[in-house]
This record gives sequence, C-alpha cells and structure tokens, in this order.
Amino acid sequence: MRIGHGWDMHRLEPRAPAGAGRRLVIGGVEFEHERGPVAHSDGDVLMHALTDALLGAIGAPDIGQLFPDHAPENDGRDSRDFLLEAARRVRDAGWQVVNADMTVVCERPKMGARKSEIVANLSHILGVPAADLNLKGKTHERVDAVGEGRAIEAHAVVLLVRA
Ligand code: MG
Repeated sequence: MRIGHGWDMHRLEPRAPAGAGRRLVIGGVEFEHERGPVAHSDGDVLMHALTDALLGAIGAPDIGQLFPDHAPENDGRDSRDFLLEAARRVRDAGWQVVNADMTVVCERPKMGARKSEIVANLSHILGVPAADLNLKGKTHERVDAVGEGRAIEAHAVVLLVRA
C-alpha cells in the first residue's frame, strides 16, 4: 500500500476586473462568489491538493514541478488536466486508488449543497467510485486569512494498493 497527502492554498481576491480573482472552481464545480482564486492555472484548490496527494503517494514530482506556474501553457489551465495526469501516472506505476479523503477549508461559500456534485465529478475523472471519495467542508472559524475570506485551502489524503 501507499499513502499520499496533498495540501494547497490560494489567495481569494475580488473577481476581475475589480481584482485578480478568477472564477471560483472547486473540484471542477463553479461557485457563485464575489471572490475568486489568484492563480496561474484555474486555481482549483481541491484538484491541486488531490493531484499532489496522488503524485506524492507514488513518489512522483509534485504538481508545481510537472506544471510550472511560469509556463504559458498552464495559464488559466483547467486543473482537470493535472488530475488526469496524476491518475495516469498512478495507473502506469501499477497502483490503484482505494479511497481519498478530502477537506476544503473556507469561510464561504459552503460546500454542503455541492458536495455530491464535486465528488461525482472527481469520481468521473479518476474512475474511482464516488463512495470511495469523501469530501468535508470546514470553516476556519473566522480566524486568519482563510477565516477572513481572503484565502481558501484544501487537504487530501489518498490510499493506493497494487492494481
Ligand atoms: Mg494551487
């Protein structure tokens, strides 16, 4: 077995043109929110954490090494591409996902109503049953940048077994 951990954070700013915030996309699902991530790619914090967890589990280079944030081809790039590449590497290395447990930390928006949509999307991308992908939403208790709505954070842990 192999275990992998991923963590990511993005600053949240008012959406363009008022600020540098992009559309707020979490796990491939777009949220209506007045702020969005400042990022080179689409800034999908959950996909970035999950991608790094998968890459970490197999000892592959991390997301920043594979998809540098100064590369023009990654500007505004759909993070689905990163997750697909990590999943391909996991398969090619002879592993399969047992389960993933993920947490998104932000004051707003609330994950609750959209959780199943996010899980279904990740399930589709990874080819892992939705029942084996768990998502939690937490606030940061109004403390620090995340709690003040100026940042969003995600954690992911994955377990792999030999395919
Ligand atoms: Mg990121």
